[in-house]
Amino acid sequence: MTGEEWRFCKKCLIRELDESALFASIKEYLDSIDKDFKVSDEEYERRLKICLSCERLVRGTCTVCGCYVEMRAAGKDKHCPAAKEKW
Ligand code: SF4
Repeated sequence: MTGEEWRFCKKCLIRELDESALFASIKEYLDSIDKDFKVSDEEYERRLKICLSCERLVRGTCTVCGCYVEMRAAGKDKHCPAAKEKW
């Protein structure tokens, strides 16, 4: 992904977005990731399923790293940030 391809708004604070705008923004980010850097749909869903059963997930955010898990889980180079990685 190059700077020119980057379409996710970096100038907005989450508090300025309503929840549907936040979801749309996350979806836009996911759609902007080059497929070479993205995990398969199966791996993405596997990771999110693990997050859903994790005590560190709060309102879509991983409280270990502060990331939105739906964004973090998409990247091939990303991993669960817990001391004992779950994915
Ligand atoms: S990324 Fe890891 S620690 Fe964070 S919510 Fe998911 S499983 Fe839990």
